[in-house]
Amino acid sequence: MSNLKYLQRDRDCKSPNRNISPITTKINEKGVIEVGGCSLSDLAQRYGTPLYVMDEKTLRESCRAYINALNLHYPGPSLALYASKANSSLFMSSLIASEGMGLDAVSEGELLTALKGGVSSEKIVFHGNNKSDQELFFAYKNGVTIVIDNHYDINRLEKIVEREKHQVNLMLRFTPGIECHTHEYIRTGHLDSKFGFDLDQLENVLTKLKNARWFNLIGLHAHIGSQIFELKPHRDLVQVMVDVLQLANKFGHSIKDLNIGGGLGVRYIASDDPPSINDWIKTISDKLVEECKQRKIDLPRLMCEPGRSLVSSAGITLYKTGSRKNIPNIRTYISIDGGMSDNPRPITYQSDYYACLVDRALDENQEIVTIAGKHCESGDVLLKDLSLPKLESEEVLGVFGTGAYNFSMSSNYNRIPRPAAVIVANGYSELIQRRETTEDLLRLDVIPDRFIGIN
Ligand SMILES: *Cc1c(COP(=O)(O)O)cnc(C)c1O
Repeated sequence: MSNLKYLQRDRDCKSPNRNISPITTKINEKGVIEVGGCSLSDLAQRYGTPLYVMDEKTLRESCRAYINALNLHYPGPSLALYASKANSSLFMSSLIASEGMGLDAVSEGELLTALKGGVSSEKIVFHGNNKSDQELFFAYKNGVTIVIDNHYDINRLEKIVEREKHQVNLMLRFTPGIECHTHEYIRTGHLDSKFGFDLDQLENVLTKLKNARWFNLIGLHAHIGSQIFELKPHRDLVQVMVDVLQLANKFGHSIKDLNIGGGLGVRYIASDDPPSINDWIKTISDKLVEECKQRKIDLPRLMCEPGRSLVSSAGITLYKTGSRKNIPNIRTYISIDGGMSDNPRPITYQSDYYACLVDRALDENQEIVTIAGKHCESGDVLLKDLSLPKLESEEVLGVFGTGAYNFSMSSNYNRIPRPAAVIVANGYSELIQRRETTEDLLRLDVIPDRFIGIN
């Protein structure tokens, strides 16, 4: 019954980031797993594998967990933004817009996806440590708030704005000297980070921004890391941000927005134990209210930018199992029909996942296997030492917690087409990303004329 224990862990928990599986997950008496009222193996049958499945209810509950926690704990204005790099698509943009959230983007592609998906430009924030002129112009033209990351940004944006002669709303990104690893964090004066201004550059930058004619600095931004399981680093970040807010106001700016970034962790495996969305927001809100009260300043608009914790547990990837290789006394490899091209996190970050057979979740586990991808790369292993029932070929394996940084980081390595993606809700499933075909893979290839007809 260990599969059931895994999947039902924290099922009653209101915070989707603390669950391994989507909140609508049900297991019937035969051990068949349903999500959003749809049997996972039926989805695999209907849409093919590999398949990304996203649960609408989990996505919406995650958005609402952030919005409700901000409304509950923060007496000032607030806006939750979705860090779209976690999973960017027209569908996700439209869902975020329908929940009234904002969104952050780091490229023209993510900006276009947000705008076309219906997110209004005044709720979009544009990041990046090396924005191109074209990206800056695109963001500016569309009235998106631009996050100034470095002097190069300022100089080029000044040129664009002097030509066009209308105001641009800006946020300033700085490196707060707080660095997080999953289970520890450090504070130093200087950090080795490619993002944002160091604290000791700020006076200079604030002067420069004040003197630029069309620039309107309205906010401050910092982001300290990802998959963070502690609350203290963000609480300390609030203090540094309020220090910088007061500094900016001393230089003649009037800062309205404080954007605290994202980074709240999620549960991929049972031993992960992230705080709830509510506790994370409460910690940040309480600290901000306290700091503002102490210093007798107005409450700024509080913004946050969750990515992973908003989408991770909503996603499952379905694969079909294939070949088996037994290496006596070492390990048994089971290969699946996807791998590092649809989920590059294990090979990139040695990250852990949980998986089970979606039609046999109640069967006793009988063997320990390693789930290998199909790419030509020995490191293409999705899960090590997974306990499973005795496995037949061509069963559907579900890998949980794949909603974030899977599709968005996917590739066509080995010229393998990207999976389709579907949204499930109330027993219905709908396509949100069509499956790539091998013809799609050729559409941008060009053979120069002089190579044609020579063979
Ligand atoms: C990646 C990123 C986020 C989101 O981080 P998560 O850990 O996915 O919540 C937010 N803001 C910025 C600037 C980022 O780079």
